[in-house]
Amino acid sequence: MSAERILGLKIDVDTRRGMEEGVPALLSALSSAGVPATFFLSFGPDNSGKAVYRMLRSPRFLFKMIRTNAPGLYGMKTALYGTLLQAPMIAKAFPGLCREIEARGHEVEFHAWDHRTWQDALPRKGDRWVRDWFDQGLSAYRECLGHSPRAFGAPAWMLTGAAVTVLSAYPWEYLSCTRAPTPFLLKGTGKVELPSDLPCLEEVGGARGAGRILSALSSGGIHVLPVHAEVEGGIWRGAFTDMLQGASRLGYRVAPLSEIARILAARTLPERVFAMALLPGRACRCAV
Ligand SMILES: [Zn+2]
Repeated sequence: MSAERILGLKIDVDTRRGMEEGVPALLSALSSAGVPATFFLSFGPDNSGKAVYRMLRSPRFLFKMIRTNAPGLYGMKTALYGTLLQAPMIAKAFPGLCREIEARGHEVEFHAWDHRTWQDALPRKGDRWVRDWFDQGLSAYRECLGHSPRAFGAPAWMLTGAAVTVLSAYPWEYLSCTRAPTPFLLKGTGKVELPSDLPCLEEVGGARGAGRILSALSSGGIHVLPVHAEVEGGIWRGAFTDMLQGASRLGYRVAPLSEIARILAARTLPERVFAMALLPGRACRCAV
């Protein structure tokens, strides 16, 4: 049993609907709970509809979409963005909301320029494409927030050698790009990698599976819970609020990810390389 009980909330925003509807819903849930969170925003085009092409290629993805009730979670319009409907900008279209997240005591970090294309095309792309992707995303971040981000969280926890080479050129305070049980230094970057060690609600089947997340918290320690604006800021908002209350009953203090990264940077962490692996409840391989 560890006496230290700290929980970080890593909230990813992947779609226009997540930004427009999920973020305000989460801001009010967080303020009712009185806890801070770290938002990782996608800034560029919402090409979610291109997932339809992916479905045709990957039956596993199709099953995930059906099992997790994706149309209910993400909305029909989202399913057409980038195909029949023009891809709208995500956080770039909401600079006021980006600043409001910070004004309400939370952190805003960089998740993506084009989230969908990173997921679909990254393995085939070289340094130059990755550098363009970061340059576009970081300039949109700075336009909206007026400063640079501290951290990067890779879309869909997906990395490649080219991605690591390119991202290591930017001055991140820490990274949060993988799923792993404990923090480490990501080889090739020299940065603290703060993995999402807990499963997300979507992976454990929503409210019914929330007990699994709480039981992972029962022995104490430092943990990072991955949250999606589209999910916990949508139909599973109640389950998210219940989980925050459960964590508080277990004696957890919720801290921003930058604070957790600073605590860990003062400790000796092992250096590790990432590997891609298929995790339970996910359609695609993640960096671990
Ligand atoms: Zn994401």
